[in-house]
Amino acid sequence: MTNRIFNFSAGPAMLPTSVLEKARSEMMSFRGSGMSIMEISHRSELFESVLEAAEKGVRNALSVPLSHKVLFLQGGASLQFSMIPMNFLSKGRSADYVLTGTWGEKARVEADRCGRVNVIYSGEEDGYRAVPDEHALSFSDDAEYMHFTSNETIEGVQFSYEPDAGNTALICDASSDILSRPIDVTKYALIYAGAQKNIGPSGVTLVIIRDDMLDRVPQDQHSMLNYRKIAANGSMLNTPNTWGVYLISLVMEWLEEIGGVPAIEKINKQKSERLYAAIDGSDGFYTGHAERNARSNMNVTFRLPAAELDAAFCSEAARRGLDGLRGHRSVGGIRASIYNSFPIEGVEHLVEFMGEFSAANR
Ligand code: PMP
Repeated sequence: MTNRIFNFSAGPAMLPTSVLEKARSEMMSFRGSGMSIMEISHRSELFESVLEAAEKGVRNALSVPLSHKVLFLQGGASLQFSMIPMNFLSKGRSADYVLTGTWGEKARVEADRCGRVNVIYSGEEDGYRAVPDEHALSFSDDAEYMHFTSNETIEGVQFSYEPDAGNTALICDASSDILSRPIDVTKYALIYAGAQKNIGPSGVTLVIIRDDMLDRVPQDQHSMLNYRKIAANGSMLNTPNTWGVYLISLVMEWLEEIGGVPAIEKINKQKSERLYAAIDGSDGFYTGHAERNARSNMNVTFRLPAAELDAAFCSEAARRGLDGLRGHRSVGGIRASIYNSFPIEGVEHLVEFMGEFSAANR
């Protein structure tokens, strides 16, 4: 490994080294074709086999049942903020939104353009530190769907349970924690995630959608925003991000090799527990942002005793090869994003550095 650093960025994030090496080895002539993956037709058998492998990999990793389609779209998770209400919410109808952070709020703004939004929980007043109590959520009888964000990337706030929305269609933005722990896909009408954290590179959005939702798409929906049409065309209504889908197939192979989602969940827990222990054991030098029962295993957010120390912390860390630690501008402080591919050694280095930095700056 030459000059690789520990990249704590919130996304695009680290990819497994073996995936990058495999992609490099196949770069000039993809599987004997004499072309790179980026130069072959998306209608070729070769690319179709890649798309199939990516889909199969996702299906295996998350035990996606046959009742759900696995789609690879473009436009990022942000386009889903609009596509979901454009397909499932119309004027005079309503949808429930649970707001545990900045991304959920962005999704709400887009839904507002299409119909009535009931915010059934918002953690905004407290600076988004919490998730609702599992039994405190009550859904509107007439809601077309309920939308929540399983992990809020900016605040580092994560659900520790999967909400039970009863008969209401459950929709989840899982951009920053998909594939980090097992989920029960049968509970969801739609799950979506930008790829650039746990799935692959940016430029692909994974959408897992239950078949009955496709029947709800309005007949006059624009083609490129139409889940039914995209599904009917196997994610190839237009030219897909061939490079992105290829890398996803490699990431899914890697995940399977290391033991799948249950194995990565254990590693993820070890990593986040090490970091939270360092925060809690710092005699108040470091303070976690999220409430304990809402702490994220993916984005560990914390503060130093004075905001002036943030810059020194980040630049000294960067000198040691620990990069991308600056918190999001809206929250400040420090954010260590430790997605699936982030190695535990990087966490050990950060913990060591945190100890030294607090000793020197108390
Ligand atoms: N939702 C969540 C939870 C995110 O973390 C992000 C990006 N960080 C987005 C949505 C937006 O994703 P994209 O940039 O792919 O549109």
